[in-house]
Amino acid sequence: MNLSTPIENIPKISSSYREKLKKLGIKTVHDLLYHFPHRYEDFSKIVPIGEVKINQKCCVKGEILRIKNTTTWKKKMVLTEAILQDNTGAIKVVWFNQPYLLKTLKKGDIVCVAGKTAVGEEGVYFSNPIYEKLSSFSGSSSHQLHTGRLVSVYPETEGLSSRWLRRIIKFVLSKITQTLTDPLPQNIIKKYHLLPFQKALFQIHFPDSQYLAKKAQERFSFEELFVTQLWVLREKIKLAREKAVSLPLKLQVIQKFVKSLPFKLTDAQKKCAWRILKDLQKPHPMNRLLQGDVGSGKTVVAAIAALNTAIQKYQVAFMAPTEILAKQHFKTFWELLKDFNLKIGLLTSKTDKFFSPKLKNETIEISRQKLLEETKKGEIDILIGTHSLIQDKVKFKKLGLVILDEQHRFGVEQRAKLSQQKGFIPHLLSMTATPIPRTLALTLYGDLDISLLDELPKGRKKVITKIIPPHQREKAYEFARKEVEKGHQVFVICPRIEKPEKEKESVLEMKAVKEEYERLSKEVFPDLRVRMLHGKMSSKEKEKIMEDFKNKKFDILVSTSVVEVGVDIPDATLIIIEGAERFGLAQLHQFRGRVGRSHHQSFCFLFTNSSSKKTKERLKALIESENGFELAEKDLKIRGPGDFSGKRQWGVPDIVMKSLSNLALVEKAREAAKEILLEDLELKKYPLLKQKIEKLGERLHLE
Ligand code: ADP
Ligand code: MG
Repeated sequence: MNLSTPIENIPKISSSYREKLKKLGIKTVHDLLYHFPHRYEDFSKIVPIGEVKINQKCCVKGEILRIKNTTTWKKKMVLTEAILQDNTGAIKVVWFNQPYLLKTLKKGDIVCVAGKTAVGEEGVYFSNPIYEKLSSFSGSSSHQLHTGRLVSVYPETEGLSSRWLRRIIKFVLSKITQTLTDPLPQNIIKKYHLLPFQKALFQIHFPDSQYLAKKAQERFSFEELFVTQLWVLREKIKLAREKAVSLPLKLQVIQKFVKSLPFKLTDAQKKCAWRILKDLQKPHPMNRLLQGDVGSGKTVVAAIAALNTAIQKYQVAFMAPTEILAKQHFKTFWELLKDFNLKIGLLTSKTDKFFSPKLKNETIEISRQKLLEETKKGEIDILIGTHSLIQDKVKFKKLGLVILDEQHRFGVEQRAKLSQQKGFIPHLLSMTATPIPRTLALTLYGDLDISLLDELPKGRKKVITKIIPPHQREKAYEFARKEVEKGHQVFVICPRIEKPEKEKESVLEMKAVKEEYERLSKEVFPDLRVRMLHGKMSSKEKEKIMEDFKNKKFDILVSTSVVEVGVDIPDATLIIIEGAERFGLAQLHQFRGRVGRSHHQSFCFLFTNSSSKKTKERLKALIESENGFELAEKDLKIRGPGDFSGKRQWGVPDIVMKSLSNLALVEKAREAAKEILLEDLELKKYPLLKQKIEKLGERLHLE
């Protein structure tokens, strides 16, 4: 047996268990051994039975004096009752609905049981404890799996108990040890004081102490981070060797453009635009992420890059996540770039549009075929669209720049698909409003250069944020009504619902939205126009609703957290967030960004029933800070990365997410990866690492 042995070839796994493992994505011995416990139960100390207290979580060892099954006649439940004795006393143990225990546990057996004690009529007893049969009373507990030690607890999944996992993992470990080679280079293990592979594998599943458990976790966190760093840094180095067109900075045109704007650029916008223009000059492809809060003005910066490219007769592709956003960008671009003699096209699913300076402030509809022909001939300077831009029939003549709005990671892939020309790769500008903490940025975006728009345009009114306890709910609704009476619009965001299975989660969220929608539209605001939006709707339906909201066809939108990023609803002045404590700060901040997009004063109401200190602390942070970055970092600190949106968005392994609050470890992993790549870019000397990053690449590219 080795790490790549498929689970089919592991003895002792029945086909039904195999299916369950596969559901978790566990297909090989490697996957099984890398299925790590998420915590440990400390049953390392054996308590003399005579000293056991009520409500104590503990572990005892004793001989079974008697054991029998009885049936409670009221609930028709089978109880297995045993009396356990050591030389300090005796205690009762009860198991529910496990009659088969009588087959394994017999009078005279020596067992360890571990769990929490309760108190009944006959005194203290164990209720449903973990148990383990021992061969003798004395002897070390090092071979025990479930009791008498630190016991691993695995993430709950249907039908796969921690007990079963411990047994099978122990079995596999006992069969495999001869063949394990450490994927991490020896010098790195030494330099960073990491546990060697084999030891770490044992210790993470069956730790001898808290310290070793921690060391084992640290080693595997490091390993994951290191492999991720190798991958991103290698991509970065490779890209820097590719050719792109060098696009000189056309200063006069850019100055003319900046002067033509109805506002002054912020310093942050100037700085970021300058960096991008400098990148475009280089003969190697730009790979830049422009990160800025909602409303920080990323579109103008993108327009500057597009202008500088297009006037030199290289084409620009600008991709947005949804059709409304594509349309919004098209409108912004042709308004901003009217005087620059450029042809701008909009490719959507239905009505393709086209703007050329000859059209005098008008756009016209144009046939799909014509638009594609013009693009292929190089007549269209800037083509804006959704994913529809990535199709075989969309061909550019000379694509110089790709701009991606809110596409998150892996713009690299999209660029590759968009550029068919030989000899050079287009520059890439990716934009996002999602604040990414530094550790995550280094880990997942390590191959990108990052620019930050850390300043909002002047004159924006600060959104007033308030925590609303249950007794002020009515007042808040009155306030909402007044806003609508002024001609403003209101968002209501329903709380996030967490379920182990993704599918159920969105079904439950839909239910919650429907209920809230019914309540608000029938009871609270029967006279107002209320509609709803949830993740189970088709993207067409969702877009239609956003479009209607934008066009003021209704007043109140009740929604799950799916509500579009980046869509401008200028008249929305109030956002109500139900169950605010369930969202991450960064996400709350993004919701808040849905309002405050006009000169009207806007508000964000955080509804919460929770009065816990932690919740108060977090929500207060939101009131005090307007900086998405700061909030994301704070969230990472207060709540840990478990809830960070990154996990959902990027499918990062748990262990990496956990280590993201550890900047030092991330930096070490990055440093180590650099060292290795400097010496051996192709990883010829490290076949195991190479395999790992290829696997990671596959996974990341498939997203
Ligand atoms: P985002 O970064 O969220 O994409 P946008 O680019 O959509 O932000 O800009 C939001 C709004 O701010 C737009 O209406 C835009 O015209 C305006 N804007 C951009 N830059 C400035 C500025 N420097 N001063 C004033 N308003 C600006
Ligand atoms: Mg935007």
